[in-house]
Amino acid sequence: MVTTHNLGFPRIGAKRELKFALEKYWKNQSSRDELKAVGAQLRARHWKHQSRLDLVPAGDFAFYDQVLDMSFTLGNLPERVRGFHGDTLDNTFRVARGRSCEGAEEHAACCGGVAAGEMTKWFDTNYHYIVPEFDAATHFTLDTSRLVEQLGEARALGVNVKPVIIGPVTYLWLGKAKDDSDKLALLPRLLPVYAALLDHFAALGIEWVQIDEPALVTELDTRWRDAFVTAYDALSARRVRLLLATYFGQLQENLELACKLPVDGLHIDAINTRDEASAAASLLPDASVLSVGAINGRNIWKTDLNAALDWLEPLHASLGDRLWIAPSCSLLHTPVDLASETKLDAEIKSWLAFALQKLDELHVLARALNEGRASVADALAHNAAAIESRRASSRVHNPSVKAAIAKIDATLGQRASTYETRAQKQAALLDLPAYPTTTIGSFPQTNEIRHARSQFKNGQLDESAYRAAMEREITRAVKEQEALGLDVLVHGEVERNDMVEYFGERLDGYAFSEFGWVQSYGSRCVKPPILFGDISRPKAMTVEWIEYAQAQTTKPMKGMLTGPVTILNWSFVRDDQPRSVSCQQLALAIREEVLDLEKAGVRVIQIDEAALREGLPLRRAQWHDYLRWAVEAFRITANGVRDETQIHTHMCYSEFNDIIASIADMDADVITIETSRSDMELLDAFDNFNYPNQIGPGVYDIHSPNIPSEAHIVALMKKAAERIPGERLWVNPDCGLKTRQWDEVIPALRNMVAAAHALRASA
Ligand code: GLN
Ligand code: ZN
Repeated sequence: MVTTHNLGFPRIGAKRELKFALEKYWKNQSSRDELKAVGAQLRARHWKHQSRLDLVPAGDFAFYDQVLDMSFTLGNLPERVRGFHGDTLDNTFRVARGRSCEGAEEHAACCGGVAAGEMTKWFDTNYHYIVPEFDAATHFTLDTSRLVEQLGEARALGVNVKPVIIGPVTYLWLGKAKDDSDKLALLPRLLPVYAALLDHFAALGIEWVQIDEPALVTELDTRWRDAFVTAYDALSARRVRLLLATYFGQLQENLELACKLPVDGLHIDAINTRDEASAAASLLPDASVLSVGAINGRNIWKTDLNAALDWLEPLHASLGDRLWIAPSCSLLHTPVDLASETKLDAEIKSWLAFALQKLDELHVLARALNEGRASVADALAHNAAAIESRRASSRVHNPSVKAAIAKIDATLGQRASTYETRAQKQAALLDLPAYPTTTIGSFPQTNEIRHARSQFKNGQLDESAYRAAMEREITRAVKEQEALGLDVLVHGEVERNDMVEYFGERLDGYAFSEFGWVQSYGSRCVKPPILFGDISRPKAMTVEWIEYAQAQTTKPMKGMLTGPVTILNWSFVRDDQPRSVSCQQLALAIREEVLDLEKAGVRVIQIDEAALREGLPLRRAQWHDYLRWAVEAFRITANGVRDETQIHTHMCYSEFNDIIASIADMDADVITIETSRSDMELLDAFDNFNYPNQIGPGVYDIHSPNIPSEAHIVALMKKAAERIPGERLWVNPDCGLKTRQWDEVIPALRNMVAAAHALRASA
């Protein structure tokens, strides 16, 4: 019999119950016990959902983050919270976000605000974890309380439980040595704690433990590879059985290493790597389990079950009971339940599977393998019909889009003239001062804006009243910017709830869920739109708003768009064509918008690529290919304009060193980036690379309520001018101002404009 299991379940809840409970607690509107009760209810509900599996994960639930929970289990807390009293959960929140609940907490005076832990992307997903902190003196001590409690709860429900922990090597790999010491040197201190934890599981009568080592899908140097051998040699003699879990990609050169580790089973992500499944089957020792991730754990598409069986059956024939099946990775990255979606178009809905539906698929696969396909003939026929309907649907395939893609050639992404020629023509037309000032796009989202938007959504406000309300906000933003003396203005993006969703809603080929939330970090969730079909633009999406805004001022007004790579990276995308092709389609659609803006007389157009960097593949060897098509998509979008039209792009991150040449290759006339928090350190990238075009290093950290002084901004700009000639510098904030208040933004921008004046005077 094939064994079914799951690597992890989304914990936020089908209706985001955990988010709301957390936020209530943080605002001191509920007690810690009430919050804990919500956690327990969600865990119980999720175990029930999974109870048909042979092995159900426990320990995958986290109130904030699973990596942070592991740090607590290993007794690895940053020094700043170590002496804190009170409840572990409160300390979890202190490490994660600098504080626990507002106000009424007993230990507020002694354990009040501390620096929040650093957060970073969990492999190539849009989930963010709290980075473990190390230094040369780091010691570990085991705290089994969380795992023991959750195992007890699961067992009380009668499920066959499999604890899930992050493995020692990946745990070190994910962390950061604050003193630049060698974090791998901590391994000998870490392993006894893991050994004790495994012994504890054994004492509780646990048979299988899932030990996650996704670092194995990345490029590892010899020391890291050796660390795996050391670690698993040390853990091999325990009385529990270890399932070593890898996911998010292929093992490639690490496959053999993984197969030879002295564990009892290996899980691999078999979505794009069927060959590795059969290779692993022959490399693994005779008694080992091979668990194959046969269902994509991080998208929203139905699995082609018949096709999956075609390759699973031979594997089953050779492995017998040693074959396990599961989703490819934890279902954390998938919404919970498609059944909640009542408004989704029925045909599109028939193509989708969220977490619960993916578990159903797993059961069908298992039965087909155990009892033959005939035993699940109906389910398989149903699945085949859905797969075929999607494959052949005219809603997915638009011949004119495919024809346009086929016609793409190098000239499409090529501007007519070089940057120098364009810059001269643009300068003559725009007549901007030295150190021109601008902002990144959005202005504060006030309560009135949110109110008008929700009234419009539920029909209490008609189209024209809504438009009038938005126009009032645009006028306000324009007047404020004129009063401040900014040089290139923005309309403020009031009409957009989200920079990707807004465009998705206006493009053909996109669908939207109501409850398709996925955790991004802590209580924050995103609802990525679903890119299901060939993309086309039925009509202009932003032109009227920008025209309205331009009519309110004689200063240049920026047209504001989201770029194709960012739209792609923040959507659920098709699995029936390469990402690069979906990106080309988006590029052609946004290009039409760029050209329409130009036709409407807009002289400056900003195309945001906030998410370009985060799309980088896990393996460096694949970076080149990604950057090639991503940059090309941007160029197709942006570069059809006349010399006189100034193209801006914006990126909100600060690690450029390794991709600076690709950024330059995009050939935007102006790029604005995040820099202020790192004190212009990021401009180090420009030491060895002569960035050819104009650049606006952000001088106002919009993530903080602090108001930068004029002197501070001047100092930052002078640092920038050491790397980039002053004639090519712009003065602007780090990112959009959406999350700030007007009473913060006005003084900050006033100082920014004053700083620009000071720079001009001293230039
Ligand atoms: N133009 C967008 C804004 O200002 C950019 C947001 C972003 O980079 N994340 O809101
Ligand atoms: Zn940004």
